[in-house]
Amino acid sequence: MAYLYETHMHTCQGSACGASTGAAHARAYKELGYTGIIVTDHFFRGNTAVPRDLPWEQRINLFCQGYEDAWQEGQRIGLDVFFGWEQNFNGDEYLIYGLDKAWLLAHPEMEHWTRQQQFDEVHKYGGCVIQAHPFRDRGYIAAIRLGKQFCDGIEVSNAGNAAYNDAAALRYGKEFGFVMTSGSDNHNADNALKYPQGVTGVSLEKKLTSIHDWVDIIRTRQPIGLCVPDSRFDIREDAPHLDTYWMDENEELVPTGRDWLHE
Ligand SMILES: [Zn+2]
Ligand SMILES: [Zn+2]
Repeated sequence: MAYLYETHMHTCQGSACGASTGAAHARAYKELGYTGIIVTDHFFRGNTAVPRDLPWEQRINLFCQGYEDAWQEGQRIGLDVFFGWEQNFNGDEYLIYGLDKAWLLAHPEMEHWTRQQQFDEVHKYGGCVIQAHPFRDRGYIAAIRLGKQFCDGIEVSNAGNAAYNDAAALRYGKEFGFVMTSGSDNHNADNALKYPQGVTGVSLEKKLTSIHDWVDIIRTRQPIGLCVPDSRFDIREDAPHLDTYWMDENEELVPTGRDWLHE
């Protein structure tokens, strides 16, 4: 038996672009047959719903409201709800799993980490880092930054991407041997129910007992089933050329010189 999990989603309590409460999301995922969800609201350098001028403790309390709302509803209806977040640097975004609210309250310095610090510190405290939608090309992303030394794996498929973004990510992921996950980046529970084909995530052989099981799967490279049709990754002739960049040790851009979609 396989267990379905959402790995990437946003509530209106934690994310400025979120359209649904944690509780509404929990009900939608339950209806869609999911075993659990990981709430990954936009953290403070991204599109957070939390005012930036409040004291740290208050900001963290507000940030966690969407997750807590989902968790409570999950308890009531029988859906497992786990905590994570999505941090933005310069259009490149990372999903953080395995650290909790108490940890955030005790570590206000994390708001100003570099990518390297984020990777090292999240590891030190037992978590992991997945680069979200690495090949997304959108107006708000000035350059496609591939943070390959700053993550444990990549989100190879994101339902908010164009298919060619995912096709490029699959080639990149295979070439560098990354652990690969899939997520919906769902911001709206009503849309999820109306268009369930846009709700993806992963399928796992064992039920997660905590977020640490998920971190373990990623860090020890256990199998992860992607809830995405294979055709999503087809290379199409009309795919655009994507300029992509590595980052050096100062986290400055270095062109990859690669064309991930036409070779
Ligand atoms: Zn968003
Ligand atoms: Zn997201």
